[in-house]
Amino acid sequence: MIENALSYSHSLLKRTVINGDNVIDATVGNGGDTVLLAKLVGKTGHVFGFDIQSQAIKTTKEKLVLTSLLEQVTLYNEGHENLDLFIPKTIEIAAAVFNLGYLPKGDKQIITKGETTIQAVETILPRLRKGGLLLLTVYSGHPGGEIEKDAILNFSKRLSQDLYSVLYYGFINQKNSPPFLIVIEKK
Ligand code: SAH
Repeated sequence: MIENALSYSHSLLKRTVINGDNVIDATVGNGGDTVLLAKLVGKTGHVFGFDIQSQAIKTTKEKLVLTSLLEQVTLYNEGHENLDLFIPKTIEIAAAVFNLGYLPKGDKQIITKGETTIQAVETILPRLRKGGLLLLTVYSGHPGGEIEKDAILNFSKRLSQDLYSVLYYGFINQKNSPPFLIVIEKK
C-alpha cells in the first residue's frame, strides 16, 4: 500500500530524527506529531511545539503526561511565526513539521495562513542541519485552504536547488482534495 501524506511524513521523521536531536512541531494540534517527535528525540533531545489555541496545547500536554514524554517537550501557546523569540539561535534543528488547516473537532474558522506559515518556514530553514527536513502537510479542501496551498507551492518552487531538495508527495487522482506533503531537505 502506498502511504498517505501524513504516514509518509512519519516514515521520513523516523529515518531522520535520532536521540538527542532538537526538532520543531510548528502546529501542535491534537499532539499526534508531538508524541512521535518526543519519542524520537528521547530524553537527551528536545521538541519545541507551537499552537495559537490553548485547547490544542492542553490536549497535547495531557497526551505527553500519559506517555511520560513531557520532560523532553516545551509547548508554547504562541504563533509559529514568532518562534525565533523562543528557540535560542545557537540550536540546530534536525526536523520541523507543519500540519496545516484547522484543528480537527475544533473551530474551523481558526486556520493556518500562507503568510504566517511561510514566515515560520523562512525562519526555520537557515537553522536546519545538513540533511535536516522541513515537512508541510497541506490541506486545501477548507475555506482559505486553496490560498495557503498556492502560497506554499509558489514559495517552495523557488527555493534554490543548490541549497535544498524540494519534494511534492500526494495522490493526484483522489476526490475531495486529499492532503499532500511538501518535503524540504537541506543539502
Ligand atoms: N488539518 C490537520 C490538523 C491541523 S491542526 C488534520 O486534519 O489532521 C492545525 C493547528 O495549527 C491548529 O491547532 C491551529 O490552532 C494551529 N495554528 C494555526 N495558526 C497557527 C500559527 N500561526 N502558529 C501556530 N499554530 C497555528
